[in-house]
Parts: sequence; C-alpha cells; structure tokens
Amino acid sequence: MHNFLDIAYFQNKFVPFKEANISIATHALHYGTGAFGGMRGIPNPENPNQILLFRLDRHCNRLSDSAKLLNYDLPADKIQHIIIDFVKKNKPSKSFYIRPFVYTSDLGIAPRLHKIEKDFFIYGLELGDYLPPEGISCRISSWYRQEDRSLPLRGKISGAYITSSLAKTEAVESGFDEAILMNTQGKVCEASGMNIFMVRNGKLITPGFNQDILEGITRDSVLTIAQDMGIETEERAIDKTELLIADEVFLSGTAAKVTPVKQIESYHLSTSRPITEKIKQKLIAITENQEPKYQEWVYTVDC
Ligand code: PMP
Repeated sequence: MHNFLDIAYFQNKFVPFKEANISIATHALHYGTGAFGGMRGIPNPENPNQILLFRLDRHCNRLSDSAKLLNYDLPADKIQHIIIDFVKKNKPSKSFYIRPFVYTSDLGIAPRLHKIEKDFFIYGLELGDYLPPEGISCRISSWYRQEDRSLPLRGKISGAYITSSLAKTEAVESGFDEAILMNTQGKVCEASGMNIFMVRNGKLITPGFNQDILEGITRDSVLTIAQDMGIETEERAIDKTELLIADEVFLSGTAAKVTPVKQIESYHLSTSRPITEKIKQKLIAITENQEPKYQEWVYTVDC
C-alpha cells in the first residue's frame, strides 16, 4: 500500500484523501474514458520550505491535451494553479508523485464523450524508485501497443493501460521485470509505462513520434540532455534485433527516471553503459535543481 498525501483535490475543492471517493456507477470506471498525468516532485535539498516540480508546464499541457481528446475543455494554466495549491496544502517531506485525472464522472451508462458530466481530481503519493535503478530484465511482449487510428495515443488515456497491464503481468509472471511492446508494424515501441532508448556506435536512438509511442516528457528531456552533451541522437523506427545487439538500452519515464536494461529475453547486455549512466546522473542533478542551465525545467513552490 502506498503512503498517500493527506489532501486531495476532488469535485472542485481540497478534501482529505480518504473522503475523495467515487460511485461504483462512475462512467469512466466502466469505459476507460479517463486520462491521467504523472509528475514527480521532491523537497528542495537546499531549502526545506520549497518543493521542486519537474517540468510542470509540460505535464499540464499534456493533461490538457488528453482532456481535449476526451471532449473536455480543461486549460493547462488552470491545471497548473490547482497543482501548485495541491502541493502547498500537502507540503510533502519525501520524494512524491502527483496523479491528476480527468474522467467522465457521470453515473449514466452508454460509452460516449458528448453530453456527459466530466470532472478532474488530483491525489499524490510518496514514491521512491519505481524500478530497480541498477538495471532490469525485459521480455518482448506478445501484446502490441495500440495504433493511433484506434486509440488517441497522444493522450494518456486510462483505457489504453489494459495493454500495459497485460504486458507487465505477462513479463513479471514469466520471470522478467518489465515488458517491451512492439507496435503493430512490428517495430520497437515502448515499455508498459516508459519510453525506450538504445545506444549503437555512440549514437542514442529512440522510436520517433510516428511509431505509436507516448510523447514522454522524460524522453524529451533525455534527448535534449544528450544533444547538449554532444551525443548524436536519432528518432526512427527500431527493429527488434537492433535492440538485442545494442551497446546499451534504457527506459525513460517520470516514475522510472532512467532505468538501464540488463537483459532482453535471453540476451544479456554489456554491464558497461557509459552513455546511460551519464544521462541518468545528469537527469537526477537537474531534478534536484543543481544544473543552472536547466533551471527552467524545475518549478519551485514556496510552501
Ligand atoms: N509511455 C507510457 C505508456 C507511459 O505511461 C509513460 C509514463 N507517463 C511514458 C511512456 C513516459 O512518459 P513520461 O516520461 O512523460 O513520464
């Protein structure tokens, strides 16, 4: 069980987390017609009265876009104001994760997005490492990531996570830590809740936006950090065998940060991962606001 933050935002007000409950008849519960965000915050290691939020604006924009895909107008600046108030009210003392959620809150049946009540809530939980930071094993999933023509993949639509859940359980129950999903073209796509990168001959390569990936905010950060370090980057389709013979592979995500991949199926990757380690350490330093060059990625909340 997680340690949830005490205060949630629910039905337009701040309430104790334990009192923020919905009905079993809630439309989104039945039809997967919700969308969520996921962002991390930490107490400022330099100042206990401040909380640092990583890429707040990007997370709010993506949630607003997800809401739009669900026929719900929720401006990013409104989300941002509420998240800042949420953080001030909770003043977390440990590394934490914020989960904002937009959804069809109506109690009526019939799948649809029009003429239906919608709502927005936020809760949070303490969150340390989501995956073992030293590295993980991955199974190539027998489940494929959905296609944009059947599901709006630029939103973090809750219903889409059935595929992630199937893939993750298949991987874990067969002895692996995580799943790597292919897209329906048979190209490498992403993991259950992370984007994927490989290094070949000193170049950092990741599937492009037209490969049915989620437009990950950590992915964007990793690409920028790498380019700033002078590492060549490329966004393109990746074949499975390229991954199996890659020099380095890692996953990126808000929860997972940069997690090295040690093994894919029965293929073991090198234990030397210079590029992964450099990017991983840089990203941690940036989130702790120790890198002046990337200060604009870190939003400081005075509590
Ligand atoms: N892909 C999926 C399916 C995800 O759920 C996530 C987590 N949000 C990611 C990729 C990584 O995205 P981000 O770096 O924005 O957390």
